[in-house]
Amino acid sequence: MGFHVSITGSLSNSIKNAEVIGCTAFQIFTRNPRGWNPKPLEMKDVEEFKRKIKDSYIDKKNVVVHMPYLPNFAAPDSESYYKSKQVLSEEIVRCYLLDIPYLILHLGSHLGFGEKNGIKQIVNACHFALDNFNSSYRRHLDLNILIENSAGQKNSIGSKFGEIKDILDELNDKKFGVCFDTCHAFASGYDLRSSKKVIETINNFNDTINIKNLKVLHLNDSKGNINENKDRHQHIGLGSIGKEGLMEFLKNKDFQNIPIIMETPNDGIRGDKENMKVVLEFIEDQGMN
Ligand SMILES: [Zn+2]
Ligand SMILES: [Zn+2]
Repeated sequence: MGFHVSITGSLSNSIKNAEVIGCTAFQIFTRNPRGWNPKPLEMKDVEEFKRKIKDSYIDKKNVVVHMPYLPNFAAPDSESYYKSKQVLSEEIVRCYLLDIPYLILHLGSHLGFGEKNGIKQIVNACHFALDNFNSSYRRHLDLNILIENSAGQKNSIGSKFGEIKDILDELNDKKFGVCFDTCHAFASGYDLRSSKKVIETINNFNDTINIKNLKVLHLNDSKGNINENKDRHQHIGLGSIGKEGLMEFLKNKDFQNIPIIMETPNDGIRGDKENMKVVLEFIEDQGMN
């Protein structure tokens, strides 16, 4: 369990940043998330990252990469769609070089061209990026590429379990799985405010997508209310979902062996250490550790 942490200064600084909070899992961007053209990954940075993660108490199996923000895989053919495919190719290679097992993507928006076209573009982009890897590296790629459920903003793809299931079916490759974000699910209409509702939602996920496809949990509270489609995260227990619902995920056996990442705000209300404390205290109370 852990947080999204900064790579400021150097990629390997993320490891120290995660360790000081007491993370046993963490998430990073491999580059500036708001630009199209990243600095190339230098071999010395790769070696340094791999050496430091080996020396860390954190298991490299619990490191997660989040894609940068600009790509839109559901966009119609355009320059930005082409660039999105390139970025996905690059990030797959970066995860491969850094030996990181999870890459998380937001699917994006169909921009009014319809859900069917959006899904077709997503599948095309994913296949393009994998083909690119296979033809350049000719190596086995041991990477889980994870679709993150969206908050259901206008024209966005992937807010409903059925849609994610359709995309996984079309991708038809075990490399693909799901990152479940609690804030996004709540924003798009899945009630998570009580233990009972969370169990119902997890059952619904299992019946539709299959829990085996769940590889990472984003544990976030929500500033917006249910069905408001707002992707605005809140500290654990201080938002509209609340503690009871969020903690139910920690009790659930299906969530106990996957990385759990909190993406809580940097707003001075509460720091990462305090959010970690809230969660750890709950786990202790339950006698779960
Ligand atoms: Zn998330
Ligand atoms: Zn979010």
